[in-house]
Amino acid sequence: MKRVSLVLLVALCAAPVFMTSCRAGRESSPPPARPNIVLITIDTLRADRLGRGFTPAIDALATAGVRFDNARTTVPLTLPAHVTIMTGLLPTAHGVRENGAVFAPQASSPTLARRLRDAGYQTGGFVGAYVLDRRFGLADGFDAYDDRVRRDPAEGARLEAQRPGSEVVDAAVAWLQQARPQFFLWVHLYDPHAPYEPPAGYREKAGGDAYNGEVAYADAQVARIVETLRARSAVDSTVIAIAGDHGEGLGDHGEHTHGMLAYDSTLKVPLVLSGATLQPRVVTTPVSLVDLAPSLLRLAGLAPSAAGSADLLAQSQPSERDVYAETLYPRSAGWHALGVLAGERWKLIQSSETELYDLSSDPVEQRNVAAAHAGVVQGMTARLATLQAAAPATSAPVAAEASERLRALGYVSGASAPAGIDPRAPNPARVIEAWGRFETALSQTNAGRPQEALAALKALAGSFPNAPVFQTTYGRALKDAGRPAEAVAVYRQAVARIRDAGLYHDLAIAARAAGNLTEALRAEQAALALEARNPAALNGLGLLHAEAGRAKEAAASFEQAAALDPSNASYWTNLGNARRELSDLPQAESAYRRALDVDPTYPDAANGLGTILVQTGRAADAVQWFERALQHQSDFYEARLNLGIAFQESGQRERANAVYREILAKAPARFKREREAAAQLLR
Ligand SMILES: [Zn+2]
Repeated sequence: MKRVSLVLLVALCAAPVFMTSCRAGRESSPPPARPNIVLITIDTLRADRLGRGFTPAIDALATAGVRFDNARTTVPLTLPAHVTIMTGLLPTAHGVRENGAVFAPQASSPTLARRLRDAGYQTGGFVGAYVLDRRFGLADGFDAYDDRVRRDPAEGARLEAQRPGSEVVDAAVAWLQQARPQFFLWVHLYDPHAPYEPPAGYREKAGGDAYNGEVAYADAQVARIVETLRARSAVDSTVIAIAGDHGEGLGDHGEHTHGMLAYDSTLKVPLVLSGATLQPRVVTTPVSLVDLAPSLLRLAGLAPSAAGSADLLAQSQPSERDVYAETLYPRSAGWHALGVLAGERWKLIQSSETELYDLSSDPVEQRNVAAAHAGVVQGMTARLATLQAAAPATSAPVAAEASERLRALGYVSGASAPAGIDPRAPNPARVIEAWGRFETALSQTNAGRPQEALAALKALAGSFPNAPVFQTTYGRALKDAGRPAEAVAVYRQAVARIRDAGLYHDLAIAARAAGNLTEALRAEQAALALEARNPAALNGLGLLHAEAGRAKEAAASFEQAAALDPSNASYWTNLGNARRELSDLPQAESAYRRALDVDPTYPDAANGLGTILVQTGRAADAVQWFERALQHQSDFYEARLNLGIAFQESGQRERANAVYREILAKAPARFKREREAAAQLLR
C-alpha cells in the first residue's frame, strides 16, 4: 500500500503541471534548531520573593533572561492555573475553574505537551502534589507523567497531599539524563505551599522565615535541574521557563493563603524565560500566565493553539491590555465569586460590590476608588462581562435520574453545589476574617487536634449553612474527635441542603465509624448516583462489601477505584486483600505490587505481599517485605507476627522464636489476636 502511494507521488511530480506544489513541499528550508524546553512551576511563590538573596538560581536565570515584573495568574488556585499554563486558555475557555475539577483536553485546543510531542519532542512531567494527579487531566501529551504522591489512606484523597521537591527533582533528573533532544520537561515544585516546613537549614538561609525557607528550598531544586542541563552541555540548547502558579496572602488584606481573594499578593507571579537566544531584559507591561504556552510554542517554531494571547518574546513590549483573572473558590464558603481585570494603571475586582484600584498610586490595593471613576468602572465592567460570557454554561444540573436515585435511597437533596450564584452573597473580602478562623481550625484538624477546632467550626457551620466547606470540615472534626454519631447528624443536614458526591461520601465514612453500616452503604450509593466514577466512594463501597463478607463485590469496587486513581496505594492494597479473600493469589500479588510501585513505604501493601509469598511457598522472600512494613510502622503487630511465621516457614526457628517473644513482651493488650498466636507458635 505504501509502495503504491510512493510510486504515485513520484509520477505526480514528474508531470509538469504538478511541479509547483510538489516542489513547495521539498523546498521548505530545514527548520531552525528547536530548543529543548524546561518549564518549572513553583507553587504558591509570591512574585516579590525573587531578588532578595535566597533564590540565587532563579535570580541568575532572570538576570540572564527575560524577567516579567508584572505577570499575573488567571486563577489563584493550583489546578486551574496550571491548566492555563498548559493550554494558553483562560479558565472561562478551558473550563477548569476549581481544584478537583477534571480537565478534558479538546482536540481543537491541544495542550503544550501534546503539541510538542506531536512535533517530535520527548515529553516528561513531574508533579509534587495530588492536586495535579493524572486523574485531573494534565497528563495528556506526556510520554512520562510522574505523579507518585503518597496519600494517607486514613485521610482519603486530600488534594494537598504532597511530596518534597527533592523527590520530584530526583525523578526529573533521572529522566533528563536519558532524554533525547528535543525534549520538553515540566517540573512542579509544591514546597512553598502551606504548611511551611522547610527542611533543616533553609529557614536560616532565608532569614528565619519559614515560608521564605520553603522558597529557598524550591530554588535549590531549580539549581539541581540547571546543573543537570549543564552537565549534559544542554544549557545553550534549552529554554528554561520559571513560573509561579499563584502567590500567597501571608496576611495581606487579611488573607493568609490563597484562592479566596484576588489581590496582587496572590495574583502576581514570578515569570522568567531564559535561553541562549533570548536577550536579557525586563518587561513591565501586564502579562498573564495565559501568554506562556503560546510563547513557548513560538520558540519551538509552532503556531499558538489559541488566539488572544500576547507574544512574551516580541521585540517590543507586549501591547497594553487588561489581563483577566477570577476565583470561584469563595462559593465553597457561600460567598461571591470574584472577576478581575488588571491593566497598566487600573485594576477592577467585581463581586457583589465593585472595587477599583489605581495601581499607579496604590499598588497594594488599599483604597477603593470605584465611586470616583465611574467611567473606568463602566468600561472595565463591560469588558469583564464579555470575557465571562465566553464561559460555557456551568456543568449541567444533575439529571432528574440522579434525583430519582437519591430519593430511592432515602435522601432528598437540595440544589447542586455550590448553590446557585446568589448576586447578594458577600464579597469575600468583607468576611475574610471568618476564613482565617476556618483555616486555623482546619490546620488543627489536619494536625490531629480536632478537639481544639470544634467550637470554631460549629460556629462557622451555623453562620454559613450553605457553605459546603464549613459543613464537611465540622463533620470531619467531630468524627476525628471520636463523635461519629454527631458527625452523621451534621452531614445529614448538609446533604439535605447541598447536593455533592463528596458530602455523601463523608456521610458514609462517618456512618461507618458510628457503626451504622446500612446508612454508610446508602450514602456511598448516593455519592455514586451523583458521580458514578468517584474513586473514593467506590473504595468506600468496596470496604463496606468486604466487611459484610461480599469479597467478589468488594473486589469489583476496588478494581474500579484503582483504575480511576491508579496512584492511590490504598486502593490497590484493598484490591489485593479482596482478591486474597477470593483465593486469587496471583492477581492479589500483582495488586500489592502495584501498590508498592506507587508507594514503596506502604506497610499494608508490604504486609499483604509478604503474606502471599508465604502462602505460595516463598517464605524466605517474604521476610524483607514484613521487615519493610515494620520499618515504616513499628507497632504493626500483624506484620510482626507474619515475620515470625516467615522465619519459621523458612527454617529459621530461633529467629522466629525471638520475634514471638518480642510480641509477647511488647505488644499492648489490644493486640490480643497477635499475642495469642505468638504464644501458640513459640516453641
Ligand atoms: Zn498552587
